[in-house]
Amino acid sequence: MRELVVCSGKGGVGKTTVASSLAVFFATHGVKVFTADADVDAPDLLLALGGGKTLFSTEVEASKKAEVDPEKCIGCGRCLSVCPFGAMVKGEDGKAVAVSMMCEGCGTCKLVCPVGAIAVKKTPTGTITVEETKYGFECVTGKLRLGEHNSGHLVASIKNIARRKAQDRGSDVLIIDAAPGIGCPVIASVTGADYVIAVTEPTPTAMRNLERLSRVVKHFGIPAGVVINMCGHSKDFEAILKDWVTQELGFQILGEIPVDYNVVQALVQMTPVVEFNSDAAASKSLVRIAERVGRLVL
Ligand code: SF4
Ligand code: SF4
Repeated sequence: MRELVVCSGKGGVGKTTVASSLAVFFATHGVKVFTADADVDAPDLLLALGGGKTLFSTEVEASKKAEVDPEKCIGCGRCLSVCPFGAMVKGEDGKAVAVSMMCEGCGTCKLVCPVGAIAVKKTPTGTITVEETKYGFECVTGKLRLGEHNSGHLVASIKNIARRKAQDRGSDVLIIDAAPGIGCPVIASVTGADYVIAVTEPTPTAMRNLERLSRVVKHFGIPAGVVINMCGHSKDFEAILKDWVTQELGFQILGEIPVDYNVVQALVQMTPVVEFNSDAAASKSLVRIAERVGRLVL
């Protein structure tokens, strides 16, 4: 089974549009597809695929939080002075209280408490569900709890579940829709991947973020290609971007997708654009990209 990760250094460049269209194109052309949404802060792959039927759901406990036992606390204030995140405050009764959303679970407060009033406990980080899409393949998706961190751990759990289930199903390809940026969730997504598709747009900001993403991808030694989305506004800048991608980054261009209102309409209809309107210019570009990726990766 091949593992394909769709990334973008910057949000809003069309990563999920590419991931959903690739998944549907492959699935309708005889490839056994399995998908995972690794953007646990804002998961939307399932939305782009028209929703799903939940087959399995589990809660993940990866975070740790401090808890103060008010019966034991003598209000000495030591924990307040050592907490590096300002997560310990004094309550009205003069005793310490841990502010859950600010606590990073480092345990420093517990070390200095003279009366053993502090416990650092595992807490729920988020949920993972396995959903059946209307296209016949499954999607593992996760959701980080409000105010929780540790998204990298949640993504690693999503990947483990997706890999196991994809292998059980005899899948040919696991397509992972990664989070934007280059943080922990992205690193967790690309680790062990066979190929990375980096989606960008012809703007200086996206170019800068693609450069940062390229460093992450190269660090892990993963082959990658670039999709330039929303083309058509500035041919000059697009030409500069293409030269820079191939010559400076050393990545191949997998294709360009023109600005196309069908993409917006498809998103509103929760349908991948290649299915929404196969005659749309964006769909034709995505099909060419999918064919190229299929030849390279499958
Ligand atoms: S566990 Fe760390 S972050 Fe949380 S309250 Fe204690 S010192 Fe602060
Ligand atoms: S260090 Fe312990 S005893 Fe002192 S304020 Fe904090 S919790 Fe209370």
